[in-house]
Amino acid sequence: MPKHPVPKKKTSKSTTKRRYSSFEKKTQTKLADRIHVVKCPNCGAAKMLHHVCPECGQYKGRQVIDQAKKLDKITKVKA
Ligand SMILES: [Zn+2]
Repeated sequence: MPKHPVPKKKTSKSTTKRRYSSFEKKTQTKLADRIHVVKCPNCGAAKMLHHVCPECGQYKGRQVIDQAKKLDKITKVKA
């Protein structure tokens, strides 16, 4: 006799799949809720919700990042 809990019957494939399908669905909806990509009201570019627009540098209708001062990405060390 085993000293640990033993299931009385084998769990069928359909029961297992039904159980795990609900978990999968929940995870997918949670991920979909977390990714908040919206259109910028100023320029229409895709931006993260509650973040400054990377294209025009505006947030809530005001200029946050000065486009003239915006530096180029440093890819090389200039001699
Ligand atoms: Zn924008």
